[in-house]
Amino acid sequence: MEIGKNITSLLEGLPSKVELVAVSKTKSSEEILEAYNAGQRKFGENKIQDMTRKYEILPKDIQWHMIGHVQSNKVKYMAPYVSLIHGVDSLKLLKEINKQAQKNNRIIDCLLQIHIAKEESKFGLSVRESQQAIKIAKELPHLRIKGLMGMATFTDDQKQIEREFAGLKSLYDQFIEQKIPLEVLSMGMSGDFLIAIEQGSNMIRVGSKIFGPRNY
Ligand SMILES: *Cc1c(COP(=O)(O)O)cnc(C)c1O
Repeated sequence: MEIGKNITSLLEGLPSKVELVAVSKTKSSEEILEAYNAGQRKFGENKIQDMTRKYEILPKDIQWHMIGHVQSNKVKYMAPYVSLIHGVDSLKLLKEINKQAQKNNRIIDCLLQIHIAKEESKFGLSVRESQQAIKIAKELPHLRIKGLMGMATFTDDQKQIEREFAGLKSLYDQFIEQKIPLEVLSMGMSGDFLIAIEQGSNMIRVGSKIFGPRNY
């Protein structure tokens, strides 16, 4: 794989307001460095242990994004350095992030993960739970809700993907209308980021299109 070239050509096609998170889960430090040398600074991982190991050995100006499901008891390992947590899906997790951020004397940026897919297997808050989470987060000074994240159903039905992303965008817009200062709408992966951008995404999380298929 020509990782650097993949990054460059991907960025060329993106509107300037759309940020790219290079999803490097399962990939080696060498592969991440290839992307880094092409100018990429935001990387996404879905396991705290892997992310922390990579954080320790790779350049310190990398911004590490946690994109996976987070267990509360592991927040402490990433609290010192994590740049953005995409998958916040419970009030318990919000409170734990706030607590660990306080211990590290910092404010941690988070996205609320909203359940938009038909699949039961995907994590995320309902609309009502997200409203509650935003209310509760106002009382948590070491945490900032910067936006929303969602994953569409894994399907060939483009119209369905489009509808799911449009639904998330409309929730995002509702919060903005209520003067909740959100900035980030994280939606879109290798297979569906073009649809996501059409529907208003401003942060895409792309793995295999940059690094090639993953071997688990
Ligand atoms: C793995 C993963 C991605 C990237 O998936 P690709 O299809 O390889 O681009 C994006 N978001 C989340 C939450 C993921 O777990």
